[in-house]
Amino acid sequence: MKIARIDLTKQSVKLLGVPKRWEEEYLGGKGIATKLLFEIPPKVYPFHPANAIIFGIGPITGVPLPGSSRMTAVFKSPLTFGYGESQCGGFIGYEMRKTGIDFLYITGKAKKPVYIVVNEQSVEIKDAGHLWGKDAFEVEEILKKDEGGEVISIGQAGENLVRFACATHRKGRQFGRCGVGAVMGSKRLKAIVIKGNKEIEVIDPDGLKEFRKRMHENIVSKLRSLREYGTPAISLVTNEVGALPTKYWQEGSFGEFEKISPDVFNRYIKRHSSCYACSVACGKIRAVNGIEVEGPEYETLYAFGSLCYNSDPESIMKANELCDRYGLDTITTGNVVAFYMACSEAGEVKEKVNFGDSEGILDLIEKIAFREGIGDVLAEGTRIAAEKLNVSIEPVHVRGLEPAGYDPRALYGMALGYATSQRGACHLRSCAYRANLAGLADPQSPEGQAEIVKDYEDFYCVIDSLVFCRFLCVPAIGLYWEDISELYKIVTGKEISVEKLKEIGAKIWNMTQEFNLREGLTDVETLPSTFFKPLRHRNLEITLKKEDFEKMVQEYKKLRSKISG
Ligand code: SF4
Repeated sequence: MKIARIDLTKQSVKLLGVPKRWEEEYLGGKGIATKLLFEIPPKVYPFHPANAIIFGIGPITGVPLPGSSRMTAVFKSPLTFGYGESQCGGFIGYEMRKTGIDFLYITGKAKKPVYIVVNEQSVEIKDAGHLWGKDAFEVEEILKKDEGGEVISIGQAGENLVRFACATHRKGRQFGRCGVGAVMGSKRLKAIVIKGNKEIEVIDPDGLKEFRKRMHENIVSKLRSLREYGTPAISLVTNEVGALPTKYWQEGSFGEFEKISPDVFNRYIKRHSSCYACSVACGKIRAVNGIEVEGPEYETLYAFGSLCYNSDPESIMKANELCDRYGLDTITTGNVVAFYMACSEAGEVKEKVNFGDSEGILDLIEKIAFREGIGDVLAEGTRIAAEKLNVSIEPVHVRGLEPAGYDPRALYGMALGYATSQRGACHLRSCAYRANLAGLADPQSPEGQAEIVKDYEDFYCVIDSLVFCRFLCVPAIGLYWEDISELYKIVTGKEISVEKLKEIGAKIWNMTQEFNLREGLTDVETLPSTFFKPLRHRNLEITLKKEDFEKMVQEYKKLRSKISG
């Protein structure tokens, strides 16, 4: 594996090999990128030039198989001040693999705006003066024309150091969470162009053909709703069980859900969108009022829909499009807006924006992206904004990261998963909502949740190191440990047992925790007090008892300590 070490202060690039034993110990992607993150100085401010962003792919990236074209980004997060990571699909991983370079370690700060061009012969740093000030879509269009290849770009939110700015690829795919776009902005790095032509080697092509056939059969039979509706299909279930966050975490289902149901959004679909080689095509490109938008995903639907008490589907799509253009993480943006609405309802802020005010949502997004007026405060994320506004409404976050669309009072697995996730209140580190919604554990009981969360966390550490799409790696539905062991051998020719994969997954997870401990963060976080108050779900009240939460945490810690010895 190869790494390009790029110092934007010195405008220098070095191409080096990755130590061979790292490939055995950490596989690639997240594993190796996390190892590299320890090179940044302890407690460095996330916008300091010494912070690094490490983009990486893995040993399975780019092979002709659904889910293979992903890239990971690891960095210190300006939102959590701890371990930051994000993964993006589309075609970027595939293109990177064809360059023969596996990692970009980007540090320093350019004197003026730049973009980076990576190909199989060289890595160049180029002037981006003409791109600065433009949105992510415009930048991608210009660079595609001028350079070709695949593009990652930031919009104005990243330039303005909005702490939850994301990096965008192909207009609808993002390195979404934890603020990688803001770290790029702090380095005056506007975009990265990747273009490669190398052959991607697969040791056992016939084995891969057979594996792909099996995967496709599984996709057709078990992932029908993901193909038809995309991720919004999840809202049908979460709204039923009281897990759909509504009115800034006050309710678990939305009375006007029918107006923003998956069927409503399907009426706007213009075409389906897929990552490289994937027959699921879970991306849905919708047309509304003269604009096209890839989305909304479930998370965006909840964040600008039920969480803001907004039943206007067209405004949700517009909010999605604005966030993608300006380069904003839709989950955090929706949470920040809904938090502000809760403050407004309580009469604690001057500028009124009521729940359900769809125009108000769009206005706040503009203000946040450009840090105008109240947007300058909200651009800091809910944790810091709450301090600055000095309000009584509790900002709902873990480690500074706002939660995804699963209320943990209805899904206890997510209560534990939010607390243990090293990047903050993330649904994807453990994906425990899947096990709870599929009935693999009673969602309202602490029993068995610790085993699930730990196993899935380790599993997805491996998936993010290979780097692969987690939508296709769903225990009981998609690929699981045994399949991954088989796939690894097909592609690389190397045997790897399930036990070894589990060991590697746990080791990578431990590294992420070690990084946070080094930065002065905790091993396991507590949850906001909101989550220990009753949740209204229709005429029911759902609760998460503190003692049940503590029980899960203790069981989880016991399991983790067994592994780390
Ligand atoms: S399932 Fe969706 S996100 Fe995953 S690779 Fe396929 S199209 Fe991309």
